Amino acid sequence: MTAPEPRKAPVLRVRDLVKEYGEGDAKVRALRGVNLDVERGDYVAIMGASGSGKSTLMNILGCLDIPTSGTYLIDGADVGRLNEHQLAILRNRRVGFVFQSFNLIPRMSALANVELPLVYGGIGQAERRERAMAALEQVGLTDRVHHEPNQLSGGQQQRVALARALAHQPALLLADEPTGNLDTASTGDVLQILDRLSESGRTIVLITHEDDVSAHAKRVIRLVDGEIVEDRRQAPVDGAPPRMALT
Ligand code: ADP
Ligand code: MG
Repeated sequence: MTAPEPRKAPVLRVRDLVKEYGEGDAKVRALRGVNLDVERGDYVAIMGASGSGKSTLMNILGCLDIPTSGTYLIDGADVGRLNEHQLAILRNRRVGFVFQSFNLIPRMSALANVELPLVYGGIGQAERRERAMAALEQVGLTDRVHHEPNQLSGGQQQRVALARALAHQPALLLADEPTGNLDTASTGDVLQILDRLSESGRTIVLITHEDDVSAHAKRVIRLVDGEIVEDRRQAPVDGAPPRMALT
């Protein structure tokens, strides 16, 4: 594997990223040359109207899709130069992904869902259990670990998905509209968890089209038609209170 750069390397370095779908008249340029660095510990909200390329960018950064051209490094590793095996390891260990629709596996307990990436990561049973429990504790769900997704509220399901993304202690947490399917109270719970993760130094890139959500980030990037048109820092709204009262 490419030797990781010293710890000072940004978690993300994106250069001239282009993504086109289709060909000829049907060609869609979803990303038109995106440049972006994200430093360790940053909390970035990527905003933009529907169709502006947010999910396309996220899927490429999460190694779920490949760009048409351009390069990007995650934690110092040049993703375009990795073979399938290295890519699988990167995807599994260094990036945690949270989707709008939770994407939990039905008829599997919350605990088993959180353990799954650790199974793929080849981690032994005892340690797996310990890490998954710790991740579920981080999201305030220790009393729901044996519940299956359909026995949990939307907000609780998203917190399980967050725990699953965190179980590997990823260098980067990517979240594509994580509160898009949630009511106000559950949105607050998820944002509170993200605030706390950010305060503890985790690097977060979140996609949203809601100002209430992006207000929690330290930096806001706006995409229009596949291009970054704005990139600004802001003082995030007040962080999480010292104790959570999640239900
Ligand atoms: P957003 O997440 O900001 O709503 P997307 O990244 O999903 O935007 O889409 C950006 C553009 O790329 C849109 O015009 C969309 O229609 C197009 N697009 C996305 N995925 C595909 C695909 N698999 N095939 C063809 N076009 C696509
Ligand atoms: Mg989208």
